[in-house]
Amino acid sequence: MLALTARRMGYRIAVLDPELACPAGPVADLALTASFDDSKALRRLAEASDVVTYEFENIPTESLRQIASIRTVLPDPSVLHICQHREREKMFLQSSGFPCPGFEVVASAGNLAAALKKFPGKSRLKSSAFGYDGKGQLALDSKADPAEAWARAKIPRAILEEHVPFVRELSVLVARNAQGRSLAFPPFENRHSAGVLERTVFPARLADPVANEALALARQIAEKIGMVGLLGVEMFEMPTGKILVNELAPRVHNSGHLTVEACHTSQFEQQIRAVCGLPFGLVAPLCPAAMFNLLGDLWANGEPDWSPVLALPGGVLHLYGKAHARPGRKMGHLTVRASTPEDAIRLGTEALTPIRQAAGLSTLAL
Ligand code: AMP
Repeated sequence: MLALTARRMGYRIAVLDPELACPAGPVADLALTASFDDSKALRRLAEASDVVTYEFENIPTESLRQIASIRTVLPDPSVLHICQHREREKMFLQSSGFPCPGFEVVASAGNLAAALKKFPGKSRLKSSAFGYDGKGQLALDSKADPAEAWARAKIPRAILEEHVPFVRELSVLVARNAQGRSLAFPPFENRHSAGVLERTVFPARLADPVANEALALARQIAEKIGMVGLLGVEMFEMPTGKILVNELAPRVHNSGHLTVEACHTSQFEQQIRAVCGLPFGLVAPLCPAAMFNLLGDLWANGEPDWSPVLALPGGVLHLYGKAHARPGRKMGHLTVRASTPEDAIRLGTEALTPIRQAAGLSTLAL
């Protein structure tokens, strides 16, 4: 989606991806198939490019530093270094005074035993590295056996985070340029299932002070971390209206996919503008919308029959062309535009119902 947008804007594109059949390959002028630490491929990518960015967090920061010794890399590798590691990310948020759920660093069963005592109710053990979409997480409570849980987690380092009884999950996508100017899209309202984003609603149905607080926090975080590019800030809205920051994503974000249809400027174009030093585009909404992720589970009985979503006025189907569907793998998404967020939710949910049933899945809740 980033490459398609860059091409429409007149750029030529080089991509590096370990998979031969990667979605960006067919739209790239140069597609390098190599691991993220292949220094020859990294050098070729750098030499072919004027500016290099990334849209995946599990890239060694050393590789970005190698590219940065030849060409501009944005966001700076130091930003990824923080955001790709939960422990560093949480330390950054906490030491900068940004509100987030309480946590303890855990590197042994003994640490876990002590941390469990700190959080009397439910908690979540989250891997420090390589965790996203709820991967590398264990839900625990204070009665959990620390030795058993630590053995089951099979991770060298983690954080234990208190479970927070949020009323809503939000995200704010804020673009910041090299001159320090920032511009955020209005907040998105998200619902996750088993740790994976299930649905985004736009604009988020929030009281103004809560929306303003979310926007202000995202801007302050982008400034503090030295962001140039698009930063996704995932947040929890608490029953009191207070916001807690969950996670940072220094890249285009799944909850921003619907900006393609629902905003003057998409998140992809804004990211390209930010890293290429162009002025920002308007972020104003064009219409309410809902986005539904299409996971590999929908392919349980073969390629779904997309007729119900193709027939949907206001519906736009995106399929990423990934060669293999696996349960939980993001294969595409559906965006539905409507006159209210509620209509967009209802229309998308109804259109997906027969497709989910054909794959043996239950109907989504409204
Ligand atoms: P994460 O990978 O940390 O974004 O977690 C995936 C999802 O798990 C989040 O979007 C929430 O739905 C849920 N979750 C994560 N951390 C917490 C928490 N501290 N309290 C309650 N739910 C959480």
